[in-house]
Amino acid sequence: MTLLDGKKTSADIKESIRLEVEQIKKDGGKIPHLAAILVGEDGASQTYVNRKVKDCEYVGFESTLLRFQDSITEEELLAEIEKVNQDADIDGLIVQLPLPKHISKDKVMATIDPKKDVDGFHIDNVGRMVSGKPCYLPATPYGILLLLEKYGIETRGKHCVVVGRSHIVGTPMSILMNLRADCTVTITHRHTVDLPKYTKEADILIVAVGIPEFIKADMVKDDVVVVDVGITRVEDTSKKSGFSLKGDVAFDEVAPKSSFITPVPGGVGPMTIASLLKNTLLAAKGEIY
Ligand code: NAD
Repeated sequence: MTLLDGKKTSADIKESIRLEVEQIKKDGGKIPHLAAILVGEDGASQTYVNRKVKDCEYVGFESTLLRFQDSITEEELLAEIEKVNQDADIDGLIVQLPLPKHISKDKVMATIDPKKDVDGFHIDNVGRMVSGKPCYLPATPYGILLLLEKYGIETRGKHCVVVGRSHIVGTPMSILMNLRADCTVTITHRHTVDLPKYTKEADILIVAVGIPEFIKADMVKDDVVVVDVGITRVEDTSKKSGFSLKGDVAFDEVAPKSSFITPVPGGVGPMTIASLLKNTLLAAKGEIY
């Protein structure tokens, strides 16, 4: 069993971006600038956003963090997004999810200028992705593609089973494993009858459900490649923070049966940030639009 080390792979990608930004600065070019919007006080969301801002600083990007109270209205938030859209210095904009219930995620995503949509959630980018046109690939699925590539995992003709069909992970992942990775893809979800029948057939199993240790050893075949997207905070009094992070895969029992597997943390999470930075660099260079 080999660990798919997202932390190390992401660090390598960040280092190459840092060197490129250094060169851009020397040449007097446009320094990439990422803006992040965070609404409310959710602990996990704050951690994710802070990490993104820190990584922007590390690679030499400019970053702007815009924080708003939970009480902000939908109209006010959309107006703030418009302001960022109009700001010529900002190349990329992300809005940290989840949003408070009174704000429509769809309206927020539709308001972000597709040229600045470095999370790849805008319907224009999704349409471009499905039609194989240049686009910002959604950060988490893009990061997973980069990780599989880095470890030289053969995907062509393999059977990839994706568990979960969210708009940000499962669905785009299934599209990319088909169109970019040339897999035969099965997508499963909460209404799938007899899930283990499908997971046991997977050469590559990608799991994004948000249920800790959902995939057990008897649900996979020998030598499977496992990508665990799930991150759930579970109470853990032995930790200073009071919680630990659990993936969707019961790592201790599934790892011995796997050929490759991502750890949680240190697998998909860092790759998501690396691809976000890659997308922001593409935005600053005007390479997609
Ligand atoms: P979501 O809640 O939007 O979607 C969950 C999906 O799981 C749904 O499509 C649902 O149909 C499916 N599902 C639920 N119960 C199921 C069952 N019993 N059998 C089969 N399918 C079932 O979640 P999401 O946004 O895709 O996130 C999933 C997990 O990935 C979460 O833990 C989230 O925190 C994590 N995540 C991690 C990253 C990262 O960078 N590592 C990024 C995004 C999400």
